Amino acid sequence: MHTLISEFSRGVLAAGAAVFQVGDTGDSAYVIESGCVEVLVGAAHAQQRVAVLAEGAMFGEVALLDRQARTATVRTLVPTTLVRIDRAHVEELLVRADPVIQYLLRLLLERFRSSSAKSELPPALPPLSGHASFAPPEDLHAAAVRTLSLAHDLSDAIDRNQLDLFYQPIVRLPGGTLSGYEALVRWHHPQLGVVQPDEFIPLAEKTGLVHRIGQWVLQRATTDWPALRDTCAARDGERPFVSVNLSAPELCSPGIVEAVQRCLQTTGMDAHELRIELTETVIISSVEKVSASIAQLRAMGIGIALDDFGTGYAGLDYLQTLPFTTIKIDRAFVAHMHSSERSFQIIKSALALSQLLGISTVAEGIEDAATGTLLASMGCEYGQGYHYAKPRPLHELLAR
Ligand code: C2E
Ligand code: MG
Ligand code: MG
Repeated sequence: MHTLISEFSRGVLAAGAAVFQVGDTGDSAYVIESGCVEVLVGAAHAQQRVAVLAEGAMFGEVALLDRQARTATVRTLVPTTLVRIDRAHVEELLVRADPVIQYLLRLLLERFRSSSAKSELPPALPPLSGHASFAPPEDLHAAAVRTLSLAHDLSDAIDRNQLDLFYQPIVRLPGGTLSGYEALVRWHHPQLGVVQPDEFIPLAEKTGLVHRIGQWVLQRATTDWPALRDTCAARDGERPFVSVNLSAPELCSPGIVEAVQRCLQTTGMDAHELRIELTETVIISSVEKVSASIAQLRAMGIGIALDDFGTGYAGLDYLQTLPFTTIKIDRAFVAHMHSSERSFQIIKSALALSQLLGISTVAEGIEDAATGTLLASMGCEYGQGYHYAKPRPLHELLAR
């Protein structure tokens, strides 16, 4: 682990000092805090000055990125303070960077290389190495291309009728009677087949398209509801429901409460039969912004579920302040509850917590009967998972 000092160390060099020379390994980049440097290219006996860089400029970054030897010499012209950025730090950041960023960086470096090759001056940079440690391997390259083309195609997905809404049953434990559904969006891409929401919702959030997608989902779920409702088992004192996921940008947008209200009005759906699922990311994004919307939605009678419980990093105080009606225990814990004492204890605590708060609990990702039985014996009221049913389109659910 590098300390901040070794990643960004600061040094003062006297006038005329060489920062690096042609042939040196490029393991650092530099930012000029004060002073100035000259950049020289060409053989030692016939060096040409190609640039003078002053305060705020960065140099040495390309050799740092492509791991090639330096092709220029840099010398200070006056006493100069430099901040040094180590390769290890940059590589650590690049490994974590979005594949699209890595891909764009690679393209920029390649363009830089070809433009310096065309220049009259001796090339200031060596050819970009295919072995550079930051360079995306083929699968990363393919991932970046896929992300870019998905982002492009997504803008037409609604207009071209490529989105679909699947519904996954949520059942009462232990019997498995149908209580309601979770609506899960799917994208039928004309070339790539079905694209899952885990892949395109984050993209839609970044591009702003998530608002249109969210509207489409709400409209579709509330329109489908009368037919779907008839498939639920009637129980005294318990209303059937359909649950819709909302992401952070959606809930933060100013007109969200009115948009939900409009959907309910135009379709005639009873607000008490609609649930909205939110993850902790939504709450962390802006507690002040979202809490007013959550309170308004709840006041209309809409249920509010905390999705993927246990996976977030927020403290639990929002459970006290926000009017959640349901906790959904993430499937990561459910899947390991037989083998991991830790997962088991987390589920036990979640159940105790919801009991204390007087709210219901849904366990997600139940894949076998034994897990459903164990959860029911621990007091979990509702379950969802492939053991009961996978998400399906409306027409399949109605045909049964
Ligand atoms: P989520 O809201 O936690 O939804 C549950 C996910 O778990 C669904 O994945 C569901 O198909 C999957 N699942 C259910 N039972 C099982 C099981 O037994 N085993 C396994 N392995 N998986 C199970 P899906 O449909 O791919 O959705 C992934 C996530 O995408 C959702 O997680 C939700 O966060 C998001 N998402 C889905 N639809 C929408 C939407 O309309 N709007 C927004 N904003 N997000 C959505
Ligand atoms: Mg959900
Ligand atoms: Mg979930």
